[in-house]
Amino acid sequence: MCGIVGITSNKPVSSSIINSLKKLEYRGYDSAGIATLLEGKINEFKCEGRVKTLENNISKIKMLGTVGIGHVRWATHGVPSTLNAHPHSSESVSVVHNGIIENSSTLKKFLVEKGHIFKSQTDTEVIVHLITEYLKDNDLKTSILKMLKKLHGSFALGIIFKDEPDLIIGARRGSPLAVGYGPNENYLGSDSYALKSMTNKISYLNDGEFCVLKKNSVDFFDENGKKINKKILELSSEEGNYDKGDYKHFMAKEIEEQPTTIKNCVNEYIDKINKDINLLNFPWKQNEINSIKLIGCGTAYHSCLMAKHWFEQLTDLDISADIASEFRYRKNKFKKDNLYIFVSQSGETADTFAALDLCNKNDMKTCSVVNVVESSIARDSNFVLPIHCGPEIGVASTKAFLGQMLVLYFFSLKLAYLRKEINKEKYLKKIQTLLKLPDLVKKTLETETQIQSSCNSFVDAKGSMFLGRGASFPIALEGALKLKELAYIHAEGYPAGEMKHGPLALIENGMPVVVIAPRDKYYNKTISNMQEVIARGAKVLLITNKSNDEILSENIWQTVEVENIEDDLLPFLITIPLQKLAYHSALKKGYDIDKPRNLAKSVTVE
Ligand code: GLU
Repeated sequence: MCGIVGITSNKPVSSSIINSLKKLEYRGYDSAGIATLLEGKINEFKCEGRVKTLENNISKIKMLGTVGIGHVRWATHGVPSTLNAHPHSSESVSVVHNGIIENSSTLKKFLVEKGHIFKSQTDTEVIVHLITEYLKDNDLKTSILKMLKKLHGSFALGIIFKDEPDLIIGARRGSPLAVGYGPNENYLGSDSYALKSMTNKISYLNDGEFCVLKKNSVDFFDENGKKINKKILELSSEEGNYDKGDYKHFMAKEIEEQPTTIKNCVNEYIDKINKDINLLNFPWKQNEINSIKLIGCGTAYHSCLMAKHWFEQLTDLDISADIASEFRYRKNKFKKDNLYIFVSQSGETADTFAALDLCNKNDMKTCSVVNVVESSIARDSNFVLPIHCGPEIGVASTKAFLGQMLVLYFFSLKLAYLRKEINKEKYLKKIQTLLKLPDLVKKTLETETQIQSSCNSFVDAKGSMFLGRGASFPIALEGALKLKELAYIHAEGYPAGEMKHGPLALIENGMPVVVIAPRDKYYNKTISNMQEVIARGAKVLLITNKSNDEILSENIWQTVEVENIEDDLLPFLITIPLQKLAYHSALKKGYDIDKPRNLAKSVTVE
């Protein structure tokens, strides 16, 4: 996934590069590196681990140079190590790369035969040697074009050259890349967030394009080398409060922020005066849509599954949900009356972007649900529904999950109303209930103390299960995913009724099992399934909602009750104790909560 930065200026650039890299760490953090050009020589400095380590060590050597590139890595080819960290350089060029070069083995063979010596195990290094090879007989632009034509796969690149004192090349295919404009300096970055402290003037490269940055000029070219013009966008100045405040981790802050982010989103979409849901500029008539496919990855896929449930409950539309990496390679039947909804926090998820691209190429109606409105997925969709929850820094998604679900719920409710599948009275009642959600989310955060005391059993367990039916099944999947991501505990999310068809064999004495059983139409059935696991020795943590009715079941190890609200909205509340369970289990194990091992926030590789 990784993040790349490049700066060409009339003053030393390494500290600005390092500051930008810190903002890109959400994209990868197994190693970091920088290369600058000084007096016709490329100087590289890289290390395993975080940008902080790079910063501490670089201060000892004082890296100078007024043009440079930097990288934070999420390894795809070759272990995370100093040797494999980017930039990768030859004597004449230095490259940072985000993505995967799929034909790197073939290219490497060709280059080794030509006498090139490889130092790393990365796919990236072929780019360095290809350019070096082509530069022997070609000018710079021809060499770049030839190199780009040879590469298969996805990439965003930043390249500097020993003989070009103020020049950076940026190129994009698949992975995102932004260009920023400053006074006597220009920038390259994986996203605008990395450049925001230096400029609010941004352009984005489209697939196949490359750019030539000098300190006083920026030129863009298409894949054939033809010069093109680009719009310069002015980003809003709201930089947002990105620090942790008094919280120990961003994740803790982001969980606690949820009443506010839900409220902001409710305010954006609900017109309180007209008591209506606003989907401003919705581009289609309701009779133009007869089926909806929701597409996402990871947590975003779980919000798709949740939305599938709501759309099915509220409308007669044909609904399906799919995992982006599966959808993009499937034989799909594209029909004119299909609407495709793409869900991604960053709006840069490579698999989701590729699925969107496929739908666009087939002339489908596309809509995206994203947190970053300037993102590639937002820019390439016909219609965008932002989730308005502000930057999410913790790698494991929390407030963005609630935000995605909320926007998708608005969408399903509005479509149901427009299609006359629910009457006005019901519609208004549901809007009224939505207005109560922020306060109930806030109250549900108080389940923290109870959850904290359950954590020990999870921390010591060799595995755990999360069970639910209906609307609680996607939440069971999400609860299990959070525990895996953060506490590295094996956790399976399963439909409660499916246990007897196999997974029940896993249950043994003392195994912690989370049973999600709100008092909805599935309640009695789920409680029976709970009995089946208790009978086989499971330690059940039951999550339900407050009610006057007693829970008629024995031998439940712990019960956590969330606030009460209409069934439709219970998934929002039930998610909260599961977020806390994962957070506190990871805390007990002493793991890096905001940056779990092997992961990255924005998944921009396939
Ligand atoms: N494939 C490259 C590597 O493994 C770049 C990975 C990335 O985008 O983080 O080094």
